[in-house]
Amino acid sequence: MIPATLTPSTAAGIHWDAIIVGAGPAGSATAIRLSRGGLRVLLLDRGMMPRPKVCGCCLSPQAMAELESLVGRSASDPQPVPLRLVRILARGGLAQIAMQGGGTLSREALDPLLVRRAIDAGAEWLPQCSVRDCEDDSNEVRVRVQLNGAPATGVSATLRGDLCILATGLADHVRIRSRATPTAPSQPRRRQLPASRIGLGATLAPEAGSLPGGELVMAVGRSGYVGLIRLEDGRIDVAAAIDATAITAAGSSALALADLVSDACSAAPELVLRPSLLAAAVRATRPLTHVSPLVAGDGSGIFRVGDAAGYIEPFTGEGMGWALTSARILANALIGGRSDGRPIGRGNGQVAGKYRNDYADAFAAHHARCRAIARAVRHPLLVAGAVRAAALSPRIAARLLPWVVGGRSAGPAAVRSEADR
Ligand SMILES: Cc1cc2nc3c(=O)[nH]c(=O)nc-3n(C[C@H](O)[C@H](O)[C@H](O)COP(=O)(O)OP(=O)(O)OC[C@H]3O[C@@H](n4cnc5c(N)ncnc54)[C@H](O)[C@@H]3O)c2cc1C
Repeated sequence: MIPATLTPSTAAGIHWDAIIVGAGPAGSATAIRLSRGGLRVLLLDRGMMPRPKVCGCCLSPQAMAELESLVGRSASDPQPVPLRLVRILARGGLAQIAMQGGGTLSREALDPLLVRRAIDAGAEWLPQCSVRDCEDDSNEVRVRVQLNGAPATGVSATLRGDLCILATGLADHVRIRSRATPTAPSQPRRRQLPASRIGLGATLAPEAGSLPGGELVMAVGRSGYVGLIRLEDGRIDVAAAIDATAITAAGSSALALADLVSDACSAAPELVLRPSLLAAAVRATRPLTHVSPLVAGDGSGIFRVGDAAGYIEPFTGEGMGWALTSARILANALIGGRSDGRPIGRGNGQVAGKYRNDYADAFAAHHARCRAIARAVRHPLLVAGAVRAAALSPRIAARLLPWVVGGRSAGPAAVRSEADR
């Protein structure tokens, strides 16, 4: 556990350049970059660090590159396990492709690493502090928090600053009241894709199943799809996107996840893991695919970053890379928009405009590709056809599968099909 670097009452007595809500990859990366840029930063989270998070724990090549530019490479830091093979299973078909450039690291290792680096960079850290609402006027942002930890349970406080950055992930329940732009039309709200799938996840003991390290299994079933990977400490991470109706029909998240894994991994019985899944603590998310406003208005000092700004179902395993990239883009816009050493997010449409434009440039193509894949994986027979084509032609696999899993192929020669085995 990473202890707080200051007390809530001390935090309430300081006027912050930036208050960052949420210490996942997006929030911590923003805190590191703004602190290194000379801003006085408070990073807070409603939980302790580490904390559980539903995630496939695969770092795309983009995420690995962002991470290296942010924290460098130190032998004393937790090291991602290189990702060398992806197996895609659908309706009894199997395609395998060698990958390069990606890795896997548990969220219990990655997230605290980033929080520690934010503290090293000069940010203050306040865990167990839940933000309820955030109010913006022409002078400052006021962030109202509830203190979750003993002995202060139930106590609330108001924090003040120039900027509030919501890095609250899919949860993003923070209410915003903006008086900075009273003449602006009412703010657009979170837009949820109708019938978006729900995330389910569990971490299993090392002996739960037979899965070599460095191999990612992506398996598509009727009610959703699931990724399985062995983490750096030997545990097996299971993360799925599933129809909400399947959870209702099964009667519990654990049963729905076990049913999906049994269906999707029928071609690999060693991965069915049913008894372990039924005994596991299975966590669920909100519906996954959504878009929310990046900025609470042109004159506002309230910004969103990472999953809080938008997310698309996780088949391609790129969310952490997007979170780290959006943090870099936002920090560049804010630091570039400083005058007299102070951030001028508020009242400066140029900062908001730069963030929106750079975000669209960075993500429009990726998001369109991922939306297309999210639609395709709703048709397991279509995926099974693509998997069979990939298994028959290593050249097709080498072109198709990296597009699908958001990584780089190690080349056609490295692709093996079921027929080769
Ligand atoms: C099933 C599934 C599989 C996935 N697999 C992968 C994968 O393999 N690879 C990949 O790159 N991505 C994957 N992702 C996506 C990835 O998990 C996210 O994109 C990533 O965690 C986003 O980081 P973030 O910092 O925006 O949000 P988060 O990591 O969710 O962090 C948000 C933080 O905000 C805190 N918070 C929320 N509300 C408040 C509040 N009101 N007050 C204070 N704190 C608050 C939370 O406690 C949390 O710590 C997957 C997601 C799912 C659901």
